[in-house]
Amino acid sequence: MRTIAVAVPVPGLGPLTYSVPDGIPDPAAGARVLVPLGKRTMTGIVVQLPTPNSQLPTPNSQPPTSDVKPVVDVLDAEPFLPPDVVDLAAWVADYYACGIGEAIATAMPPRAWIESERRARITDAGEARLLAERGPRRQVLESLTGGRLMSVAALARKSRGIRGVLSGLEADRLITLTHPLKGAADASRTMRVAVLTAQGGEDLAGMKLGARQQQAIDLLRAAPEGLPLGAMADEDIPAGTLDRLSKLGLVAIERRRAERDPFEGAAGPDRDARPKDLTLTAEQQAALTRLIDRAARHAYHTTLLHGVTGSGKTEIYLRLARAVRESGRGVLLMVPEIALTPAAASIFRAAFGERVAIQHSGLSDGERYDQWHRIRRGEVDLVVGTRSSVFAPIANLGLIVVDEEHDGSYKQEESPRYHGRDVAIVRARAAGALIVLGSATPSLESYHNAQSGRYELVTLRRRVRDRPMADVRIVDMKAEYAADGPGVIISGALREAMSARLVRREQAIVLLNRRGFATVVFCRQCGDTLECPNCSVSLTVHRAAARARCHYCNHSSPLPKVCGKCAGPYLEQLGFGTERVEAEIRAMFPQARVARVDRDTVRRRGAIAALLARFARGELDVLVGTQMIAKGHDFPSVTLVGVISADVGLGVADFRAAERTFQLLTQVAGRSGRGEMAGEAIVQTLYPDHYSIRHASRQDYEAFYAEELHFRRAMHYPPCTALINVIVKARTRQGAMEDAGGIARGLRVPGAAGRKVLGPAPAPLGRLKGEHRAQIFIKGAQRNAMRKALLEVLEARPDLKRRTIVDVDPMSVL
Ligand code: ADP
Ligand code: ZN
Repeated sequence: MRTIAVAVPVPGLGPLTYSVPDGIPDPAAGARVLVPLGKRTMTGIVVQLPTPNSQLPTPNSQPPTSDVKPVVDVLDAEPFLPPDVVDLAAWVADYYACGIGEAIATAMPPRAWIESERRARITDAGEARLLAERGPRRQVLESLTGGRLMSVAALARKSRGIRGVLSGLEADRLITLTHPLKGAADASRTMRVAVLTAQGGEDLAGMKLGARQQQAIDLLRAAPEGLPLGAMADEDIPAGTLDRLSKLGLVAIERRRAERDPFEGAAGPDRDARPKDLTLTAEQQAALTRLIDRAARHAYHTTLLHGVTGSGKTEIYLRLARAVRESGRGVLLMVPEIALTPAAASIFRAAFGERVAIQHSGLSDGERYDQWHRIRRGEVDLVVGTRSSVFAPIANLGLIVVDEEHDGSYKQEESPRYHGRDVAIVRARAAGALIVLGSATPSLESYHNAQSGRYELVTLRRRVRDRPMADVRIVDMKAEYAADGPGVIISGALREAMSARLVRREQAIVLLNRRGFATVVFCRQCGDTLECPNCSVSLTVHRAAARARCHYCNHSSPLPKVCGKCAGPYLEQLGFGTERVEAEIRAMFPQARVARVDRDTVRRRGAIAALLARFARGELDVLVGTQMIAKGHDFPSVTLVGVISADVGLGVADFRAAERTFQLLTQVAGRSGRGEMAGEAIVQTLYPDHYSIRHASRQDYEAFYAEELHFRRAMHYPPCTALINVIVKARTRQGAMEDAGGIARGLRVPGAAGRKVLGPAPAPLGRLKGEHRAQIFIKGAQRNAMRKALLEVLEARPDLKRRTIVDVDPMSVL
């Protein structure tokens, strides 16, 4: 019997074995197949034709060969997912300890899964019994009477507990349940395009054409590729005119596949505002020469490009990408969040035109579908995308660039919990490609690898055009409070500096990495604070919305007028966030044009691009925001950056707190003085002596790295050791602790030398979304052995496995 291994998109499941019935040729790895699973029929991806020494993890639940079910159908003659992407997904499943189906699903475009839907139909016996039944059984039969076919999902929406009722009815033969397939439609969009026929292209002087008709012919003469009917309508040519021209044989109307263009209507900054033909600085040129030389070797290699903010890294990526493309190979440029930095995508779009595809989660399903298939058809040389673009089906990959490689958004905080940068390195290795990791503030991991020689290090120490780095001033808020009381939000120094910018018509950015108006509601009578009912955090006051909101589960309630505990009317709001800072600045400078960028103000798609574009055009004086405004932006008129509470992130129980603070401060200070005028940054803090703040103020990466590495080594944290964070969720705190304790004991067995198991302890976020959470750290040098031991313990307890989060190489341990 011929068998294949198939990945289905069900969390936690390993590859499943199916047989291939006679008459169907062996499907290729990467092809889609329809397979039975339980009572459903699902789409799966062929991950491998099993061989005796199969690389894939075999699930314990693998049925004996005699029980192997046959595939229902093979959907693709050719691999749908390229085999190298299938292998990459298998690596992700293994390394990050998730099901292969989840990893494969991450690599799939939208609308590729076809699924069966359970539907119910009444039988003749059911019609006859209808009036004799009572309660929910009667309700179901009534919904179905007259032969209506209804999905079980729709029935379940009408009444609860329906599944038991349905199986009862099915057993009594009063209804039948079927499993038809849905979602097989081709999701490409087509559009109608008018083109001139050969006859239409001739001299038409002899024909008596109306004014509109003549206008249409003129337009089409100027557009040999044809024009969509929508574009003709914009020129006031109605469809009727084209119809008549078509009857005259002068115009043909064709149907073409319309690609939804994610750039269309994007209110980003100017498509390419960069001066053409820049002369590279000596440092840029040296870096580029080295990288082009590396790329020409057609072999795997990792280079860390450590370039200070404003050193012109983008220009290097661009020229390197061009060289690799000219050698006939594909390029992947990964960026943290395209919505935040639409400029990067626009620059590449301007340089590569139609041969660029863009991939990020802000796109509609239709757009993502189109982009993915364009790449798969080989119509694209360069893909610009966020984390998941690491799975883009690019053929013949020659270069991957991971810009801002330190950025936390490369790590997916749900299963599969993969790190886009690290998966990119694995992909580059398999493809024999060059990978460039770029940052002004490299992650400790990457710099450590560069120091140890695993990566090559290329450094850009200077800004382009010899522009100075921003001059950073630290303001000790303890002194401000002593002088002006504890209510101060904006220091005297920052106020003066902003005032000077407004007079000189320069721009300012003000950062506070915390949303909302106030962070705590506190009762002065009984001391109670307003907490989230689901999470162990206090609710944040959002004044414009007049609500108190949880930033972890999004629970919200109207702002209370009296204390919920003692009913006293003495509620006080403490702490502050960006909404409050914006209000303060508006009150301080009523004439200033101020806008705020955070997740409250830019919910809508495209809103952030629109705001940033207004700022870039000089229509705003001050931009207040969270870390969203610290990223990658290049605004030449910004000469002041203010940081309100530089220490916001330092109080967090996370070993990366100092690293994140250093990165945020260095990056935001790097937004200042990128144009002709020198820049300044003012950093307000309660801890002016903290090393992350001190080194950031001098923009001294190496000093920060040395000090931070010392701490990591002493405390046994990455990059000096491998770390797996295990979080167990349970209904009670005690339950979570006991279950986590069981896992810890299972790991502390004799012979488990070389790894340390810490915990169980309540997680820093002890309660989240109504669940209690306990935590274990596994530390050691042998990541694979650590993960294997953990999975063995969990395999024995499937119920517990479902409640356990396994985070390999965690970015955050809250
Ligand atoms: P980074 O990403 O390193 O912070 P960017 O790539 O955003 O820096 O470059 C900063 C600015 O300098 C951009 O406006 C870019 O167009 C410009 N630039 C890049 N290279 C040069 C150069 N050689 N000469 C002049 N300007 C340059
Ligand atoms: Zn909550």
